[in-house]
Amino acid sequence: MSDEQPRVFVAGHRGMVGSAVVRALHGRATLLLRGRDELDLRRQDQVAAFFQAERPEHVVLAAAKVGGIQANNTYPADFIHDNLVIASTVIHEAWRAGVSRLVFLGSSCIYPRQAEQPLREEALLTGLLEPTNEPYAIAKIAGIKLCESYRRQHGADFRSLMPTNLYGPGDNYHPQHSHVIPGLLRRFHEAKLAAADEVVVWGSGRPLREFLHVDDLAQACVTALETARDTWEAQAPATCSHLNVGSGEELSIAELAALVARTVGFEGRLRFDAQQPDGTPRKLLDSRRLRSLGWGPKVSLAQGLAAAYQDFLQGTARLIQ
Ligand code: GDP
Repeated sequence: MSDEQPRVFVAGHRGMVGSAVVRALHGRATLLLRGRDELDLRRQDQVAAFFQAERPEHVVLAAAKVGGIQANNTYPADFIHDNLVIASTVIHEAWRAGVSRLVFLGSSCIYPRQAEQPLREEALLTGLLEPTNEPYAIAKIAGIKLCESYRRQHGADFRSLMPTNLYGPGDNYHPQHSHVIPGLLRRFHEAKLAAADEVVVWGSGRPLREFLHVDDLAQACVTALETARDTWEAQAPATCSHLNVGSGEELSIAELAALVARTVGFEGRLRFDAQQPDGTPRKLLDSRRLRSLGWGPKVSLAQGLAAAYQDFLQGTARLIQ
């Protein structure tokens, strides 16, 4: 019965993560959605007016300014400012409006560069961060601490999930500012069309990364919204309240590039450009806590890449038409 479903505000529903959350909540919730043109999440007055008028029961905070290693390096002020303001404004106004459960989404870059792998939740704030995305990471750490503090001071049921590197439909395929999977899908595709014999891959190819399909993260959000509070808090205690979300599927950037080349059907050579930054050497998450609540990834990297390439082709077709 639809009137028994919770009213859920998905902040950032047009982004890759938010749109996956909307797909996952279809039929389970009454969705409240606002585009950036109607509600600027960086504007406290607009956010307050929205929460007071609509009174959502639950919130998924999927809105963020995101980008790959080069975007983070080029626009550090935008990354720290927008993400800090969105997190503090939405979390505070959600609390004022009596939201009964909120799920904040962060990133695996919150962990120290040298932390022991696989990264456990307790590694947070035990060392220095990776410099290429430190401003973004600081904003995401602030989001976790906001949720934790509103829980401690006000008893709010505000939860945090820290996903590993994400990809999937609706990704950003910008040639410089995207993450590695959409960036390489586009570059290999264009090289195939141009019958080029070489493609440049940034960095040494040696960094290790774990990738998660965005639909698997969306299912983790459903788990976070629907798990009873005491069960959740047994895994997410008051002083270490964020839970990791990773696939456990790790590979080097060189291996990933070879897989993307096969997916696209590019048969030329790969050239690694050591002038480009590698970023953190490795970030593999230990996701046992969330898995103990019944969540698990369903989409393999090979399947997910094939689907992502189809999404890219459809997007390209839309642009050409
Ligand atoms: P990160 O996980 O925060 O470092 O985010 P990225 O997805 O931007 O980069 C992951 C790794 O892929 C880094 O070591 C990059 O140097 C490498 N990489 C190789 N080619 C590309 C590319 O075309 N775009 C991006 N964004 N990264 C690339």
